[in-house]
Formats: sequence, C-alpha cells, structure tokens
Amino acid sequence: MAKKTAYRELSCREIVEKYPDVSPFVILKADLQRRTVVYTERAREAAKGGGYQLQARGIFTSIGDAGADCYPVSLMLRDGTSVFVSPVKTSRPPYVIDVIDGRKVITDGGEIVEEVDFWYKPDYMSKTTSSGRPMWKVASARPQRMDIDAYYYCHFWDEGKGCRYCNMGSHFKKGGLPAKVDPKDVFETVREALKQPGRFCYIKMTAGSVLSGRELFDDEADMYIALLQAAGRNFETRRFPSQMISSAFSLKQLSKIYENTGLMSYTCDMEVLNEEKFAWICPGKNKALGYCEWKKRILEAVGIFGRGFVNTGIVGGVELAKPNGFATEDEALDATLEEAEDFASHGVSVIHCVWVPYPGSAFSRQVTPSLEYFVRLSKGLNDLRVKYGLAADMDDYRRCGNHPDTDLARVKP
Ligand code: SF4
Repeated sequence: MAKKTAYRELSCREIVEKYPDVSPFVILKADLQRRTVVYTERAREAAKGGGYQLQARGIFTSIGDAGADCYPVSLMLRDGTSVFVSPVKTSRPPYVIDVIDGRKVITDGGEIVEEVDFWYKPDYMSKTTSSGRPMWKVASARPQRMDIDAYYYCHFWDEGKGCRYCNMGSHFKKGGLPAKVDPKDVFETVREALKQPGRFCYIKMTAGSVLSGRELFDDEADMYIALLQAAGRNFETRRFPSQMISSAFSLKQLSKIYENTGLMSYTCDMEVLNEEKFAWICPGKNKALGYCEWKKRILEAVGIFGRGFVNTGIVGGVELAKPNGFATEDEALDATLEEAEDFASHGVSVIHCVWVPYPGSAFSRQVTPSLEYFVRLSKGLNDLRVKYGLAADMDDYRRCGNHPDTDLARVKP
C-alpha cells in the first residue's frame, strides 16, 4: 500500500513565492488576520506616545476602555495596506509585534518579517459631545473611514440563533454597553471629524439586526434613517459618501431609507455562499428569511442603489467549519466562487473577510483554513469583479481595509 504523505500547509513565504501576481503585503495581511497577533511590552510602550489609536468601540470588539489593556487598535504595512487585526487568542500561533533597534516590526519565530506601523488617532477622538460622551465611543476610525456602530446588539441572539462565528452576543453581555447610539452625538462627532482636512473619505454605519416593527426589520430601518439624517446634516450635497451594512431590508424599507437619507451604498452580508451551510452557520438569518430571500433582497437592491453600489460580505473560510462545512478547500472554493459569480452577474460584488474563530463564538475552538485558501479566494473574488466590471469602492483598501480581495483592486489589470 502506498504511504500517505502528511499534508503540510505552505508558509507565508512559500505562498508569496507561489503567487507572484499577488502582492506580498496582501498575503501577509491575510496571514496576520488568520493567525492574529500579540504585542510585546516594548510595542505597547511604543504605541503610547506616538499619536496612535489605542481606543475603539465597536459591536464586535471594544479596545482600551477604562482599565483595559493598552495596545494599538490596528496595523498598517509599508505600502499603506491596513490590517484590521486584534490580539485574539486562536488555535494558530500568532505573529509577534515588537520593537527591535527602534523599528516597529512583525516577527515570526524570532525572525523579522516586515516593518509595521500603528493606526493614527484622528483629532475628533480626544473630544466629547455636548451630552458628555467621548467621541471615540460614538465613532471608531479606520485609516480613512469613520465607523458608526448604531446598535450594539443583534436580536438573533434572543433565541440563541446568532451566527456561529459571531461573538457579538457575548461581547455585548461582557461590555455592559448601552445598545443605542444617539443621533445628536452622531451629528456632533461627524461635524468634528470633518474639521480635519483629508482625514476621512467615507462614513460607514452598521449594527446588529433588530427584528421588531410592523414588518421584520422596520425598527432597524428607522434607526438607520435617524442616524444617516443626523450624519448627513453635515454635508451640503444631497448624497454623501456613506455605506450601511445592515439586515436584508425589503424593497419598501430600502426605498424609504434611500429617499429619506443621503445614503450612497448598501451592504448586506450573506456570510456564507451556500444554502445548506448558511442554514447551519447562520440559524437566525435562516429562520427570519432563509438563504433565497436574503439573496433575492440583496440582488433587488441594485435597482435602487445601482451596479457597484451594493455588495455582500462573506466570512471567508467559515464554509469549512466542522462538522457540517465543506470537506475540502477545493470544494469550498469552487462552490463559493460559483455562487459569487451569480451575484456578480447581477451587479453585486462579493467581498470576504478572514474568519477568526473568536472567543465567545460557537466556533471559538475551530481551526481556520490554510493561507493558500485565502489567497485563492481573494484572487477569485477580485477576478470576478474584473470580469463583470464591478467596483467595491465602499469596501476597498482606502475605506475599509479589512478585505484581502478588495486590496487587490489597487493593481488594475
Ligand atoms: S447577523 Fe450574525 S454576524 Fe451579524 S451581528 Fe447578528 S449574529 Fe453576528
């Protein structure tokens, strides 16, 4: 009988050599997100005095609140690639962020891999609103985007049907956070942020799903209208550069939002591009609408916002979760890209983030796929955007920076 060769994942360096047409910075970014990071004491000290962001408040993670550990909110590579990554403990060995010979560096196994910088703190974050709320608690900041998390809880958790990779339910309970953000605080925070020239080019709003109202998600839609109107009062134009990442609204709800606010783009996440895996991984979404209706509503949104102004996010890699995920990476990739092509052919771009098995989520003990899988997924999704002439401007490297696939749009073919 032939001896079975043990499967070995290729290292980051080997993947860089194998995929010369993919930026090594994008490959490193995907691996940093997949394996996560830890900070040495020297790195934490270096972060304190440099005008860096050490505090952020979001629906999935809150960093640097009173008494909490102090570390940079996130990282920036030499080519300007931003890496949204936290020191989250997973089953993979993390990269180590250190300071060696006065340089901030990423190390792996004691070797320097790359230089790195931390995200800078925007001016507004040191201010407070007239209600006394610190503005960093109203809006967090990516390098060029304001993030306003409108509601810190997702009601799919009410019946324990939150998505299996999601930690929002446990994060909310742990943080004791007030669920809602106040429109007046939003107006004042956006007004203050816009005073800093050239700092921001986009405003993103997101929240957990709110199921209540006359129709499913009506209260969530009304919440976004109030907050988008508050932010929009700071702009002279009818529309302002903005993105809403929300539940799968009906056409009636979306029309109401579009007509009554300056919203420019709509993102609604499918999370996983397979009906059966969706039902298992996202039981709340499945019960509320199901895969086909969730998808139909996203495709219909193109009629309101236009091609390239609607996209859907997937949690890249989660389709391989055990025991009910795809059995092999090849199978998962084929199925995902086939379905992504259907979205693209209807004018909807599919973007992926890198699955991190967050503590507090049902999948916390799972192991993420290989780095090569994420590189092939990123290339495949970017190739589809090229093939169908789609942009994903609302989630590109400049605005979001959380997606290796949209980073690839920096180099146009
Ligand atoms: S919809 Fe799913 S991923 Fe999004 S917040 Fe709710 S449980 Fe989490």
